[in-house]
Amino acid sequence: DLEPRRVLVTGGAGFIGSAFCRRFVSSSQSRVVVADKLTYAGNLLSLASISSHPRYRFERMDIAEADAIAVILREEAIDAVVHLAAETHVDRSIAAPAEFIETNIVGTFRLLQAVLAYWRELGQTARDAFRFHYVSTDEVFGEAGRDEKQVSGNYFPSSPYSASKAAGEHLVRAWHRTYGLPIIVSHASNNYGPYQYPDKLIPLTITNALQGRSIPVYGDGRNERSWLHVDDHARGLQLALARGRNGGTYHFGAAMAQANIVVVRAICAVLDRMNPRGNGRSYEDLITFVPDRPGHDLRYRLDPRRSEEELGWSPAVPFAEGLEETIFWFLENKSWWLPLRADTRTCPIC
Ligand code: NAD
Repeated sequence: DLEPRRVLVTGGAGFIGSAFCRRFVSSSQSRVVVADKLTYAGNLLSLASISSHPRYRFERMDIAEADAIAVILREEAIDAVVHLAAETHVDRSIAAPAEFIETNIVGTFRLLQAVLAYWRELGQTARDAFRFHYVSTDEVFGEAGRDEKQVSGNYFPSSPYSASKAAGEHLVRAWHRTYGLPIIVSHASNNYGPYQYPDKLIPLTITNALQGRSIPVYGDGRNERSWLHVDDHARGLQLALARGRNGGTYHFGAAMAQANIVVVRAICAVLDRMNPRGNGRSYEDLITFVPDRPGHDLRYRLDPRRSEEELGWSPAVPFAEGLEETIFWFLENKSWWLPLRADTRTCPIC
């Protein structure tokens, strides 16, 4: 294994980025430099546990600011970039796609240009060892089984979000093939865990329940998701940096799939036990079915075999255990999420 020594993490103040940084700073000897714009989804509190670590630095910046990115790449002599910065919420992408195009496509393009110029200045050994890791999603492949001709690995994104992630991914591959930039691409299932912004299904359900608000479920709730614990994803990203082949694509697929309504009911059952509502009421009473999301994919599938064979990665956190631990975290960390919920401008669907 050859772990990079100085890693630039874009979007490091987000849900997955902060989990990766917390893990990487403590389990490696490497330096972690975060570049994050701090949109509504970025939160420095998620990085508080490493904020005074000598091998950690935070810079507030937009990935589209190529000049600022260029300065930090040189100043820190970066030898790997983990690119997580993105607009990530499917419903927001349907209501207002512009920001998704700006960050996920144009931003990725500008970042690539800055990184390419920097990479070309490096000596041969440093160039060979360099990696640009694009963190992608299972959603770029579209709904599994929707198109009979669809072969795993074909791109059929359904939402503005997934289309913008696919576009960014294509740019990254083109910069590899045309300019030789060393890259890795990984696709992950839906992530869950502590510090997830409460507009995503699991934290939205937990926090709505705890605040006695209705718990929205799309359509009839039978849409399935495969849930991957964010720590399993962060470990996969770390392994890919150390062992991933130049040009390699890795799937970080969860070992399970469950209908959304089953997950929501499971959360209610855990909360009924951990934090009873009283008067014999169940949190399930708060469940409200709402009209389905347009273009809502029924399910996704990822094949994690290559990640197992080449990286020695497989998901380790069983869903029931991870879910319970996540619910407990939200119960114990109201100071992290209550302020986010108070601001309806930043969380219109909370
Ligand atoms: P998130 O929304 O929690 O965090 C995104 C972070 O990016 C925030 O800190 C935000 O401030 C930052 N950011 C946004 N625009 C930026 C810009 N222009 N410049 C700099 N920083 C910017 O997202 P997440 O759930 O942690 O997802 C991280 C990455 O992983 C994304 O690329 C996403 O597509 C991918 N991914 C997410 C999941 C999932 O289930 N959450 C699954 C697979 C892949």
